[in-house]
Parts: sequence; C-alpha cells; structure tokens
Amino acid sequence: MEAILTGALTQLHEAADQLQLRDEMREYLTSFKTVFQTQFPVEMDDGSLKMFEGLRVLHNVARGPSKGGIRYSAHVSLDEVKALAMLMTWKCAVVDVPFGGAKGGVTVDPAALSSNELQNLTRRFTSEIIPIIGPDKDIPAPDMGTNPQIMAWMMDTYSMTQGYTIPGVVTGKPIALGGSEGRFEATGRGILYVIQEHLRAEGGIQGRTVAVQGFGNVGGVAARLIHEAGAKVTYLSDKDIALHHRDGIDVTAAYAFVAKGGTLTGWHDLFARDVEVVAGADVLAAEVDILIPAALESVLTEANAAAVRAPLIIEAANGPTTVEADAILRERSVVVVPDILANAGGVTVSYFEWVQARQFQRWSEQRVNQELQSIMAKAYQTIATRRPVNAPNCTLRQAANWVAIERVVEAVNLRGIYP
Ligand code: GLU
Repeated sequence: MEAILTGALTQLHEAADQLQLRDEMREYLTSFKTVFQTQFPVEMDDGSLKMFEGLRVLHNVARGPSKGGIRYSAHVSLDEVKALAMLMTWKCAVVDVPFGGAKGGVTVDPAALSSNELQNLTRRFTSEIIPIIGPDKDIPAPDMGTNPQIMAWMMDTYSMTQGYTIPGVVTGKPIALGGSEGRFEATGRGILYVIQEHLRAEGGIQGRTVAVQGFGNVGGVAARLIHEAGAKVTYLSDKDIALHHRDGIDVTAAYAFVAKGGTLTGWHDLFARDVEVVAGADVLAAEVDILIPAALESVLTEANAAAVRAPLIIEAANGPTTVEADAILRERSVVVVPDILANAGGVTVSYFEWVQARQFQRWSEQRVNQELQSIMAKAYQTIATRRPVNAPNCTLRQAANWVAIERVVEAVNLRGIYP
C-alpha cells in the first residue's frame, strides 16, 4: 500500500479509537462509495491512438455532493487517489462546506502532451466519467497538473452531452466561463490566512523566515503572498532548482517571471544571480521559523524528519508527511498545521464558485477573500480549541481529524441507512 493511503487509514483508525467509534462506523468510513477505473483511447497529433488510465474515487457523500480535484501526473495510482478522496471528505468537513470527498486522476505526464492532445485526453476522460459527475453529484476541480483551461474543456464536454451549459459541474474554471474571482489564488491565500491565525497571539507573520518547497499554483501563490505580507522567504524551490538568500528572496519578481511562462531557474539565471543555488534537501532542513511543503506527498519521511529545523510546518501539499515522520516531528515538538486545514482554501472558494454558478451571481474578489478569511479563521479556531481535557497535548492534526470525523459521523447518523 502506498504511504499516503497507509497514512490516511492510520490517522482514521487513531481518531476512531480516540472518539470510540463503533466498529461498523469505522468500517463505513474506511470504505469508498464509488471507485471508477477506466482505460481509454486518445488520438495523438501523429494520428496514432494511445491508451491512458483514468480514475475517479468518491469516498463519502453524507454531507453533500462529493468534491475534489482531478490530477494529471505520471504517478497517479489507485491508492493515491483513494487517500486523496478520503482527505477531501475530512477537508470539506473541517471548513464546514456542504460537500463530501472525491478525487480523480489520469496517469499521464501532461508536459509530454501537446495542447491538442491534452484537450483530446480531457474530453475523452470527461465523457468516461459523465455517469458519475454532475453539479448535484460530484464536482471536479483542478489539482496537480490540471488548470482552468482543462476545467473549461471538462465543463464544455459535460454540457454538450446534456444539451445546455452547466457551469456548476466543475470549479476552478476561467473567470470568463463562470469561474470565481480569487479561486486561482485561493489555496495559497488560505495558507497565508491560516498562518496569520496561528501566529495571531505571537506577533504575526511580519519578519518571520520561511522555506517553501514547490512553486506551482499552491506554493507559488503562498510564497508570494507571504513575502508581500512582510515575511522573509529565505528558501524557495521547484522541481528543478532550490534557492536561498538569507535576507529573503524577491518572490513577487520570481512569481511574475514564472507567471509569464518562465521558470524559477530562468529567473535566477537572468535576474537573481546573488541568490544562492542549494540542494533540494536543504529546503526541508532549512533553519527558518516556518517550513511549507507545497509540492508532492510523502516528502517528510522517517529519513529526513529528524533534520527538520523549523519549529512550525504548514502542510500546503496534500499528505506531505508520512506517519513515521509525523511521530518524529511530534516527539520533537514541531507543530504541524495539517493539510486538511491548511490547504482547504481551494475547496472553500470552489464552494463559493459552485454557489455563484447555481445562483448566476458574481461575487467581487474582495467578498471572496473576506469570506475565505472568515471560514479559515473559524476552522482554525475550532480545531485549536478542540483539545480534550484528558489529552491537552494532542496535535492540531489529531484535533482536525476529530472535528472532521465527528461532523461526518453526525451526518451519517442523522441520515440513517436506506434502503
Ligand atoms: N484539488 C484541490 C484540493 O486538493 C481543490 C479541490 C476542489 O476545489 O474541489 O483541495
């Protein structure tokens, strides 16, 4: 079993023990409502056909339609998608948006496809999952390797088969097609809001040193907003390069360069030669106030957790810490703000986008950000105060799991089993 699924199940069992859940409920929560697996053909630019494997897993829909991203990556596997679907159930419950959890993926390296091939793949995969998805059933969104353009193709393919435009079937769409203001930045912005909430009583984020691993839609936006909020991003990396500057990197400039199609390496070589190039592993072991893994899962492991020097980790990626690493970090009193809370800004604004789509309304970016801030702050406070009297040292991860699981269990019990 892959580490991320082992981790999700271990956490669930631990929470089930502590919450004294009945065995039947434990079995229900470790099960998956729908596991859809398909192999489908795509026409390539040279006229050949190539087979791809696609997945969509719905974990639990007790609290509402299922919600979660579609990932395009060469590493997509059933274990990974199942784990991520389960994390989505807890994530939606933590921020209390009325969704269950799902995840999907296609095993493909999107960078190896032309735009036309990517469109063919997306449209064919969408047509395969049409029986499962829908604005009242299951609502995909972007994830690793997918983006607003891909959501536009998904929305169009679904709508064409239904005969009319249904913007609520996916979120993370381009703004011109009913996407929400603020959705593109939402996960990164949610990271900033969670850090601000966490440090509220300790003088805020200003002047803190930060290491960010990952410079995509999550890490890039988070690093830029954190830099603009007055912190010093002293370490920054993407899959090709890791950078360090003791006075802080000009993330606004790096972000602008990458947003125009450049790379972090290109920015360094052209504009930031004073910034030192370091090893990727140095970012996770950086001597900083805050470490933000914002790229792949299972990057903090038994092998490197003891080397972490930051006292605070904000999990911007899904599942970046293995069970073994989590135990080591806990032992060392490193505080971890868990993924299901820290990166819930994306799905929160997806919820706003879905509400806007269903009401044919448009919210301003200011309204989106204000509502996001208030939801993230409330979720953080609920979790930070959910420490039982008999376990005052419980971690934020444990408390987040308890809050999420209790909410899902309450919904399951209220609905009952039918037929
Ligand atoms: N893929 C994102 C996540 O992992 C967003 C999901 C959504 O907006 O539905 O949270």
